Order: sequence, then C-alpha cells, then structure tokens
Amino acid sequence: MSMHELSLAQSVVEIAVAEATKAGCSRVTSITIEAGVWSGVVREALEFAMTATVKDTMAEGAELIIIEVPGRVKCNACHTEFAAEEYYNACPKCNSTAVSVISGRELQVKSVTAE
Ligand SMILES: [Zn+2]
Repeated sequence: MSMHELSLAQSVVEIAVAEATKAGCSRVTSITIEAGVWSGVVREALEFAMTATVKDTMAEGAELIIIEVPGRVKCNACHTEFAAEEYYNACPKCNSTAVSVISGRELQVKSVTAE
C-alpha cells in the first residue's frame, strides 16, 4: 500500500466522519470521491487503503464511489478546449503545447451520505 493512498484514505475518512457527526448521524453510508485521471491516485490502491482505514470508525461498511474525472485542457494560444490523454498534449487545432489544465487533477470528497 502506498503512503499516498493511505494518507489520502485517512483524510477522506476524517472528512466523512466529521460531516456525519455535524449532521447528527451515527454511520456513514457512502462516500463519493472525485479523482482526476492526473491526480496520481490508483483506484485499487485507494479502495484497499479505505477498507483498512474505515475499520472501527463511523465509516466502516460505507460504500466508496470513485468518480474518475477525464482530462481536459485549453490551448493558451487559440483557446480551443479538448480532451487529452496527457496534460502536455499539443493543441489539435494549432499544435501549440502551451495548454492549461481545466480538469483531471481534482482530488476531493464530493459528497458523504450518513444516517
Ligand atoms: Zn490551439
């Protein structure tokens, strides 16, 4: 298990437990995470880390939903937006490599449900 996913799982569980507590709930039922394709998170590793981290917490047994956000970039030269495999892909319209990432790097807890 990599430290990256383990520390991420710990933060996710902390957030989920805090949200559930704030809502007056006793159990987290699901956690939805948005993870961009360039966030550096390996889905299987995160799932494995979560399984270990939720043990004996309010989030034990909660469903983990990971939404993979595809990579999109915008050309700085001609402002064309396009889907990209890599964030350094050149613009398909003008071939410029000066592009800005619009999405694909996000890594966040999107929602938590609890009861
Ligand atoms: Zn362009």
